[in-house]
Amino acid sequence: MTADVIDGKAFGENLKLGVAKQVAVLKEKYGLTPGLAVVIVGEDPASQVYVRNKNKSTKAAGMNSYEHRLDDTVTEQALLSLVTELNEDPAVHGILVQLPLPKHINEAAVIDAIAPAKDVDGFHVINSGLLATGGKGMVPCTPLGCIMMLKDRLGSLSGLDAVVVGRSNIVGKPMAQLLLNESCTVTIAHSRTRNLAEVVKRSDIVVAAVGVPELVKGDWIKKGATVIDVGINRIEKDDGQGGKKMRLIGDVEYDKAVQHAGAITPVPGGVGPMTIAVLLKNTVTAACRQAGIDEPEA
Ligand code: NDP
Repeated sequence: MTADVIDGKAFGENLKLGVAKQVAVLKEKYGLTPGLAVVIVGEDPASQVYVRNKNKSTKAAGMNSYEHRLDDTVTEQALLSLVTELNEDPAVHGILVQLPLPKHINEAAVIDAIAPAKDVDGFHVINSGLLATGGKGMVPCTPLGCIMMLKDRLGSLSGLDAVVVGRSNIVGKPMAQLLLNESCTVTIAHSRTRNLAEVVKRSDIVVAAVGVPELVKGDWIKKGATVIDVGINRIEKDDGQGGKKMRLIGDVEYDKAVQHAGAITPVPGGVGPMTIAVLLKNTVTAACRQAGIDEPEA
């Protein structure tokens, strides 16, 4: 048996088409153009690429995109003042501060300064609390996209055994919460987990969000399980001509896992390309809630 490959790129493109349709309706019916403000501090090359892509995708969906580029010497106070300005700007419905921030800035303080209703990354403590208690908050983009892909593939997740490997606030914990909300029986594994292989072997759903290349071995995967690989690891490989080239790999040993899983997301081309689409979707959700109108159909 070879697993079906879950095409995150196609999934993301489809989601973006739906968002563009929603934006067109919001503009025509309510004169509302959702706006996303992205704040980037410093010159981190990976962050620069992410922000460029976010800007491009936001505009392509018909929304307004506001980019704020700050020098890495900016003070925490100046950054907090900008966040306050964006909180009060009615044209801005979503605010995203690109992480990581320089060391002299307290990330938690900046995230918690964002108005929860505009926190399209879903990292604010109020949004974490709403997710944990079944309220209507903003949900972090990567886990939300993963749950959408899982439901698209499996339909109801009720009663399934799921493991989330990784317990970060931005991926692991919200992912586990979303699976619990879908009535899965959830295990959260982390660096102190005693027998990861056994935990993975009994799971119908495996979500790996660790940041360790191929940590989850292919032969740990239960026959027919659904595997979502969130990990993005850049490794150097021989290019076959005496040189080296960079390659992206996930947290799951893909080549072997495909022989066991029922379905699996590849890296690259799985979770990564779907995340920006969910950010756009969250911005539409935020804009509709702020305007007090129902979200149009996608
Ligand atoms: P963090 O570094 O914040 O968390 C990693 C987690 O993995 C921790 O909970 C840690 O456990 C756990 N862990 C580390 N080593 C092991 C081990 N040997 N066995 C079991 N668990 C282990 O990472 P993030 O959650 O931010 O990101 C995880 C991965 O997902 C990264 O590769 C990142 O690049 C990728 N990512 C991809 C996104 C996308 O595609 N859009 C978005 C966000 C992240 P402990 O808590 O005990 O230290």
